[in-house]
Amino acid sequence: MLTKEAREELEHQHYKIVGSHSAVKTCGWTKNMIRGQGGCYKLKFYGIMSNQCMQMTTSISCANRCVFCWRGYKAPVSKDWAWDIDNPEDILAGSLKAQQKLLVGFKGSEKASKKLYKDSETVKHVALSLTGEPITYPRMNELLKLFNQQGISTFLVTNAQYPEAIRDLAPVTQLYLSLDAPNKELLKSIDKPLFADYWERLLSSLDYAAEKTERTCVRLTMIKGLNDHSPEQYAELIKRGDFDFIEVKSYMHVGESRQHLDKKNMPMHEEVVTFCNILVKYLEDYEIVSEHIPSRVVMFAKKKFYVQGKWMTWIDFPRWNELVQNKKEIRVEEYWKATPVIGISGKGTLDYHSEDLRKKQVNAQNYSAAENIEEIDLDKDEKEENEQEKMNENADECYEEIGIEEIEIKES
Ligand code: SF4
Repeated sequence: MLTKEAREELEHQHYKIVGSHSAVKTCGWTKNMIRGQGGCYKLKFYGIMSNQCMQMTTSISCANRCVFCWRGYKAPVSKDWAWDIDNPEDILAGSLKAQQKLLVGFKGSEKASKKLYKDSETVKHVALSLTGEPITYPRMNELLKLFNQQGISTFLVTNAQYPEAIRDLAPVTQLYLSLDAPNKELLKSIDKPLFADYWERLLSSLDYAAEKTERTCVRLTMIKGLNDHSPEQYAELIKRGDFDFIEVKSYMHVGESRQHLDKKNMPMHEEVVTFCNILVKYLEDYEIVSEHIPSRVVMFAKKKFYVQGKWMTWIDFPRWNELVQNKKEIRVEEYWKATPVIGISGKGTLDYHSEDLRKKQVNAQNYSAAENIEEIDLDKDEKEENEQEKMNENADECYEEIGIEEIEIKES
């Protein structure tokens, strides 16, 4: 799948290539949490432990060339799978090894919280997103089964260009569909899809998403001046997919997207909130439940998640692991959990929930999402890269020290 150049460029960007078509890369929020500075917005909204989350893909190839993609066009773009197919067992083992190697640099680092680093050695969540289109991996359901057996929850993101893959997908903890534009014309110019019937594929994907009984979420990436309009059209598409959650997130002016978009195209958090307060008027079954200012994202949930005066947006992961091993069909209410105070905001929660209570909760759980509200540091990329560079340098020493041998990936 990868040319030598593409592989080298990805490795230079601290991707760990696993086999011939998969990759792992440490998420900035995983590191943030290991440093004791708080986790990502999915910790806040759904209870994901960012320090125990592995960000990966099973297909570096994609059928879209989205203008806002920070990954750029490093990897092949293709409509069909035309490559060798690696064994799911090897992908799982290789990815867990890669994650360990990427984080081992924190071992003994003053910057790291000992407990949060220790915990990170046990992966509890996989985010099948990173780059490309993971859902196209032909043996995805077998790999999902292996993740389930390991008690690893599964968040999978798809750009809704492979409807049959969504239809045939085994249960995942939370399925994400990207919805990058409110209409056909704009979707073409923003996602630059390879498929001529890209719009019909999106509509069919929405229909299959609506049939899912596990949690589903639609993510809108707001690009200021480009797709931050026509809330009524977005609402029609969202209703068609009958999603449990909606995330409206600001485009981030980082990585290769800077070749195609300007910093002005990155909305401020307040502008995302303003758009959401208009959008919610067209979505009578939903409410705005939370926001995460550092990530410039707002979360809506179906009103059915508000039960006896409590929001139930968090995930009961042990219950999910139990259910997915024993049941074919799983319902959202079977593995939901009450959202703690640290998970709710956007409604002045800080005012009516005593700050002490929040602090108590944070201390009690020794974790929360990073809630600083400074603007995202766009040069974070560069700093992150340099830091990863340093971590990789001493990773080898640590590696020898804890003696982990490489593994060989066999093609099936
Ligand atoms: S859920 Fe996503 S943002 Fe959060 S730690 Fe995992 S990869 Fe990062």
